[in-house]
Amino acid sequence: MAKEPFQATMKETSLELKFPGQAERDDQPIAGFSTRRNGVSQTPFSSLNLGFHVPDDAKDVLANRQILADDIGQPLSKWVVGEQIHGSSLVKITSKDQGRGTTDHHDAIPAVDGLYTDDRSVLLTALYADCVPLYFYAPKENRVGLAHAGWKGTTKNIAGEMMEAWKQDGIKPEDIYVAIGPSIGKCCYEVNDSVIDHVKVLCLNTDSLFEQTSNEKYQLDLKSVNRELLLKAGVQRSHLSISHYCTSCSNLFFSHRRENGKTGRMMAYIGLGEV
Ligand SMILES: [Zn+2]
Repeated sequence: MAKEPFQATMKETSLELKFPGQAERDDQPIAGFSTRRNGVSQTPFSSLNLGFHVPDDAKDVLANRQILADDIGQPLSKWVVGEQIHGSSLVKITSKDQGRGTTDHHDAIPAVDGLYTDDRSVLLTALYADCVPLYFYAPKENRVGLAHAGWKGTTKNIAGEMMEAWKQDGIKPEDIYVAIGPSIGKCCYEVNDSVIDHVKVLCLNTDSLFEQTSNEKYQLDLKSVNRELLLKAGVQRSHLSISHYCTSCSNLFFSHRRENGKTGRMMAYIGLGEV
């Protein structure tokens, strides 16, 4: 099994991402995925809930965001948060967007599930509780991106949309690194046949992507569907890394499925950092 690309930080508020083959570079992006540890929220949001759109105390969410900001050394004033509607729309973020959606979700970037930037002054963020975080990095062009892919975003091919947008800007697919972060695994993700119909339309090699367990029930491997879409879009296998963590199996994380929807949110983040 390949090495886990996400490793816990000292304070365990976050797992830090190192892109494959880039670990030696000292100008790697600042990237990672938060855990549910060491925050201030009460049950069922205990403890590091980072989502304002769940019925947690907003003061606690803001305090939690500050805890993460301090741990990863990225001030809230740099963060940018998108609204996330399970779509496949992307927005290019610039310094003008600094702080949007950070202290209140009403000024988040509207109707967007993918963000990318060439600007060092922003940290791209997105919220998760089982959906798949996709991290993109083009070292030569100094560009980073982040996408939120639940089954809807995955089957709308937000992964391919990001690759296409970068290609339009002259970035070659073979120069792009992608990491697939902690999310619900095939072990815990039961779906019905209407979801599988959306996967079948993608015309991928579906052998290991899902398994039928009863008449209308399947176990779906969303990380691997995204892997196949990324390979199809031209990402080199050696530039692709996949987290082994299942958010439903591991008590490091909130899980929408495990906790029947009454739970908090983790945050994925990526930024180019200062030079
Ligand atoms: Zn699992």
